[in-house]
Amino acid sequence: MANKWVYTFKEGNMTMRNLLGGKGANLAEMTEIGLPVPQGFTITTEACTQYYEDGRKINDEIMAQAMEGVAWMEKENGKKFGDLKNPLLVSVRSGARASMPGMMDTILNLGLNDDVVAAMIAGNPDPKFERFVYDSYRRFIQMFSDVVMEVGKKYFEQLIDKMKADRGVKFDVDLTAADLKELAEQFKAEYKNQLGTEFPSDPVEQLKLAIEAVFRSWDNPRANVYRRDNDIPYSWGTAVNVMPMVFGNLNNESGTGVAFTRDPATGENKLMGEFLINAQGEDVVAGVRTPMPIAQMEQEFPEAYAEFLKVCETLENHYHDMQDMEFTVENKKLYMLQCRNGKRTAPAALKIACDLVDEGHKTPEEAVAMIDPRNLDTLLHPQFDAAALKAATPIGKGLGASPGAACGKIVFTAEDAEEWNARGEKVVLVRLETSPEDITGMKASQGILTVRGGMTSHAAVVARGMGTCCVSGCGEIKINEEKKEFTLGGHTFHEGDYISLDGTTGKIYNGDIKTQEASVGGNFKRIMDWADSFRKLGVRTNADTPADTKNAVKLGAEGIGLCRTEHMFFDPERIHNLRRMIVSDTVEAREEALSKLLPYQKGDFKAMYKALEGRPMTVRYLDPPLHEFTPKTEEEMADLAKDMGITVDEVKKKCDELHEFNPMMGHRGCRLAVTYPEIAKMQTRAVIRAAIKVQKAHPDWTIKPEIMIPLVGEVKELKYVKKFVVETADAEIAAAGIDLKYEVGTMIEIPRAALTADEIAKEADFFCFGTNDLTQMTFGFSRDDAGKFLNAYYDAKIYENDPFAKLDQTGVGKLMKMAIELGKSSNPNMHLGICGEHGGDPSSVEFCDGLGLDYVSCSPFRVPIARLAAAQAAINNK
Ligand code: ADP
Ligand code: MG
Ligand code: MG
Repeated sequence: MANKWVYTFKEGNMTMRNLLGGKGANLAEMTEIGLPVPQGFTITTEACTQYYEDGRKINDEIMAQAMEGVAWMEKENGKKFGDLKNPLLVSVRSGARASMPGMMDTILNLGLNDDVVAAMIAGNPDPKFERFVYDSYRRFIQMFSDVVMEVGKKYFEQLIDKMKADRGVKFDVDLTAADLKELAEQFKAEYKNQLGTEFPSDPVEQLKLAIEAVFRSWDNPRANVYRRDNDIPYSWGTAVNVMPMVFGNLNNESGTGVAFTRDPATGENKLMGEFLINAQGEDVVAGVRTPMPIAQMEQEFPEAYAEFLKVCETLENHYHDMQDMEFTVENKKLYMLQCRNGKRTAPAALKIACDLVDEGHKTPEEAVAMIDPRNLDTLLHPQFDAAALKAATPIGKGLGASPGAACGKIVFTAEDAEEWNARGEKVVLVRLETSPEDITGMKASQGILTVRGGMTSHAAVVARGMGTCCVSGCGEIKINEEKKEFTLGGHTFHEGDYISLDGTTGKIYNGDIKTQEASVGGNFKRIMDWADSFRKLGVRTNADTPADTKNAVKLGAEGIGLCRTEHMFFDPERIHNLRRMIVSDTVEAREEALSKLLPYQKGDFKAMYKALEGRPMTVRYLDPPLHEFTPKTEEEMADLAKDMGITVDEVKKKCDELHEFNPMMGHRGCRLAVTYPEIAKMQTRAVIRAAIKVQKAHPDWTIKPEIMIPLVGEVKELKYVKKFVVETADAEIAAAGIDLKYEVGTMIEIPRAALTADEIAKEADFFCFGTNDLTQMTFGFSRDDAGKFLNAYYDAKIYENDPFAKLDQTGVGKLMKMAIELGKSSNPNMHLGICGEHGGDPSSVEFCDGLGLDYVSCSPFRVPIARLAAAQAAINNK
């Protein structure tokens, strides 16, 4: 056989995740360790890739092997597909390598048609059974139409709502067999009405279409967005799992549930989950009815519950991690339908990792490896100010579905959330319940509040994944989504009103409550200490204020990798003098204006050195084009003109002269120092004098200024500027009679600098990769404009990620590698760092570890992420 495209659950195991997808590999593994799994088969992820290679067609070989799988499954289960006596019904489920909850599609009860339905009913006189058959039938038509034929769910939901209204009942379970039969007819009619063809009745035809739909769902827009957010390559593809149905909707001795072996919100070692009697599949997560807590299952189904507890223990001991499980009880008997390492909040992830080490399941190294660095972000975000929270009275309470604090203006649709957020408003999205289409709007929100749905509802799962605060299932809310208003606790809220949510307690507050910084002790510290013991890369921060510096140091920064001096000039007094310098025509006048700036700049650096307590700091000299600082308003111009004794027109003329067609590639970076060396001289005086002052006051610290010249593309350029820097610095040091060492290095951010790094390295004590500019200039598009067309590039699969967020290892990475090799060849002692956005992106950090950089530098809140990512990189690259 050329290719094996299909594996039965008895042939696979958990090591085959890449081929079988997570769901398929775990179904096989559960089979192997003797857990009750309905026996089916998996069509491989390679078959999915093949499907796309074949121009979105399932080729005959794959289909033939799938049919062999069906034959195997029929034998294994003693039922036959499409049979009138003993029909086999199946589910067709997607399952990629990495779990992508709710992103792709599942079809349940496949294999039903009018004849099978009639035969099933004829074979069992129990009226409850008839109800079950029609319930399954209408579900199948609905899911098949939605998922396979892309007829919107809403048409069917409207029909259900209408039926419930006509019958005067509240829940689906209150509909009778006759009602459901009628619904099934209505659904088929709707199908025909929408598509112009009859609903397909041949089970094999149904199966083929369903498999295709799952492959196709790999490329649906929400899956594409999810993959981009979660670094999942498009090339992986999804597997398809086909397995016999077990029926939680059979009767009141049946049901379906979702559970976690530990609490995914807090990490507490205690079974958590939800269960619905007489229900199927998505009912629990879709918020159709509010489910019961799992513990209550003990009273309803004692045997199945006891067995389930055993399964939980077996699975944890087997996978050594918290498990997320889906199961069904059919006629009191338990069946396992899925297990995976459960998604969890950041605090839960830390607690579980620490507990697993204490329980002997994991080594500290494994504990560090199991935490997703991107998750840490949420821990570092503000919580409610304790005093402000105490003073506030909650007006309602839902489920604390995803922790953190959120405060913002109320919006009622995902589109509004996006729109309001785009114009700078903080919003809280309030919905009856969310659905996968809402995902971008959820991302744009500070918090999410839903009326329906439990801890495992769509809103809850997605919000936890994104680290966004969420309160779900607040049934007290009377919402009118059309009119954009709701009432809660006696208040009526309209669009734009402020509301605050506590995603940990589930409490809801009127108005906006003050928030405060998060704390970084306990489990966080334990994991971080382990991480620090494994990592080789240093982690610095990008900061230019003492407050940011202190915060970054608290978060573990080992120094400053990038201090952007231009940010220090925006204070009114300072910018005025900077403007005087810009508008001046002579060296003397410029020097005079700069001398006014010197004390400020020196004060800045002193405060920074003090905040750093002896840790290193790389100071980058003035970088942006000067016109960024020019006066903008008439008033500012008049002010400047008066002060300088020139006319407003002269000021305007000077500002106009500074206009550039392409400022990012204009008069900026070291080009400023080449034209106006006095700027570099002033900055040197400021750095060196500050360093001397702080060094004298703190003899136990070693202060060694690192001066970084930006935007160098030619060694002579660096040499020219460096001469002024060294002359000035040496004179200052000599005058102070102190032995102070300093370094002069450069940023590598122009491709030419990378290409000629061997020459530049002769003049540089260090290189720091400025990958924002390097990316911009390597790709030839600016990061401020790329947003306009990158979406089209994602859609066309030309790029999978934003190269400004995730380092382009193929192109930009190659330039970096070249620069390092060339640089080290002529200056083996130089040190190397990176200070672009990428310094805080986990996959880029791993790449930098591989390149052998000495440190990464990132924004303060990303420091813990970089520390953890660096540890994981060291573990992976070992
Ligand atoms: P997702 O990946 O979105 O969770 P699944 O493929 O797990 O989608 O299916 C969704 C739900 O359908 C599951 O929670 C499970 O309860 C139900 N389901 C899937 N297959 C079967 C089956 N063979 N028998 C009964 N229920 C099933
Ligand atoms: Mg599932
Ligand atoms: Mg730059």
